[in-house]
Amino acid sequence: MSKHIFVTGGVVSSLGKGLTCASIGMILEQRGLRVRLQKFDPYINVDPGTMSPYQHGEVYVLDDGSETDLDLGHYERFTHATLTKDCNYTTGKIYLSVIQKEREGRYYEGKTVQVIPHVTDEIKAAIHQLATDDVDVVITEIGGTVGDIESLPFLEAIRQFAIDVGRENCVYIHLTLVPYLKAAAELKTKPTQHSVGALRQIGIQPDFLICRTEQPLPADDKDKIALFCNVDKKAVIEERDKQYSIYEVPLSFVKNGLDSLLVKRLALKASPLDLTAWTDMVDRVINPKHEVRIAVVGKYMKHRDAYKSVYESLDHAGIAHRSRVSVVRIEAEEVGARGADALLGGVDGVLVPGGFGMRGIEGKIEAIRYARTRGIPFFGICLGMQCAVIEFARSVLELEDANSTEFEKDCDHPVIALMEDQHGVTKRGGTMRLGAWPCSLEPDRLARKAYGVEQISERHRHRYEFNNTYRDAMEKAGLVASGKSPDGQIVEIVELADHPWFVAVQFHPEFKSKPTEPHPLFRDFIGAALNRRETGRTTGIDGASAKAPTP
Ligand code: GLN
Repeated sequence: MSKHIFVTGGVVSSLGKGLTCASIGMILEQRGLRVRLQKFDPYINVDPGTMSPYQHGEVYVLDDGSETDLDLGHYERFTHATLTKDCNYTTGKIYLSVIQKEREGRYYEGKTVQVIPHVTDEIKAAIHQLATDDVDVVITEIGGTVGDIESLPFLEAIRQFAIDVGRENCVYIHLTLVPYLKAAAELKTKPTQHSVGALRQIGIQPDFLICRTEQPLPADDKDKIALFCNVDKKAVIEERDKQYSIYEVPLSFVKNGLDSLLVKRLALKASPLDLTAWTDMVDRVINPKHEVRIAVVGKYMKHRDAYKSVYESLDHAGIAHRSRVSVVRIEAEEVGARGADALLGGVDGVLVPGGFGMRGIEGKIEAIRYARTRGIPFFGICLGMQCAVIEFARSVLELEDANSTEFEKDCDHPVIALMEDQHGVTKRGGTMRLGAWPCSLEPDRLARKAYGVEQISERHRHRYEFNNTYRDAMEKAGLVASGKSPDGQIVEIVELADHPWFVAVQFHPEFKSKPTEPHPLFRDFIGAALNRRETGRTTGIDGASAKAPTP
């Protein structure tokens, strides 16, 4: 039987519940346990796929094509848990299912359909669904902050859940903030007491408190929190802000004995902890030997989380080369206004990530032209790949009015066009080409060199694609399709034959990178950028390869 860990948050939002869950998953996995993680989001959208990155940050895509909360990205980066559409529920998705059942008229036997028990039953079913024979621990994160009206049905459901499966099989962890008041020169425990009070009012007594704090949490304060919140002293865990990296969080949990406490409390059969690979990875983060500057030219640069997985993947690639990756965030529109030279001078690599809509397109194209003509390593992702194709068509094929039909419906040269099966699609939610699709790699190209295999699988989220009418002309002029769908119809990767490292992909490699297993394309992109920086030389696919100095 699977055991359950429920993680709630109090005092303020943005405390890092997702990271906490991911870190708990990681330390349990390193004790030989099989974990699955799940997030409940209290908003009404059925999934985040229709929300603006400004609202919500990145939309994280899973293999099965579900568009999910970015916390699932943390779960995947920290653990090897298999995540599916069942790992992210919103209030909207729960209600949609309840309402559909009510309309079918078969499920509720003529009863009045209510939040309790029908909505809470639906939530509990979503939790049970993950508790399969091959899972030792299910970790469930409740989005929002305790005290919000919206998260109440979820909290009520997890309260009931312990009655259904036995309190001894469930652990409640509450994440709170212990602020430091400069004027008083003191840490304050009162917000934590109030937040736990609010939880207890709805019937949940937390077993563990994880206290986010900027300052070390002294034993006195821990004791006070334990006493007032009715938890064991050992179960008050400090989670201090990390100096270098989020990847230090699981290590500090282990230092506080959280893995052993959880194993004991849930009577789990665990093996000894093995942190070798993780500790080595963190050491590489803390003690880099090289540095590289990468410009990310996008549209939502002010939102820290809009390209979350891209930034993480760049860090992972840096870890592989023992290199710090300094990201220069550039608003694409600025490139148009101030010129590529002013903004991109001195960077070692340029990355253009995914996106939607017209704004900033010309700036992205200009940045790509700058990288292409100066031999600066370039990595294009999804929209970034589409812009690279447009740039090449305009500059090299001299098709002045080349564009994507997303931006100019009736352009003379639609080098990027709506995919065949997108014609007639009118609904926006969940209707793009989504999730994992196979891709075959051409021999002797940069992509193939990076992956080292012939067939790969990568995740997608797009409606437009490379227009095959132009494939021959592009290839003859030097922009080759180095990765295609197995039937050869969809161009998945393009690269430049005579450039040190210029690779652009229709898919989203950033969703498959882990700090301990960096994505091969990100790794080689950073390798090429390092090479450019440290040797001043750039080597192409026929040269000695774009490998960085020995890590
Ligand atoms: N807007 C483009 C498309 O739909 C690119 C999407 C993306 O970058 N995720 O094809």
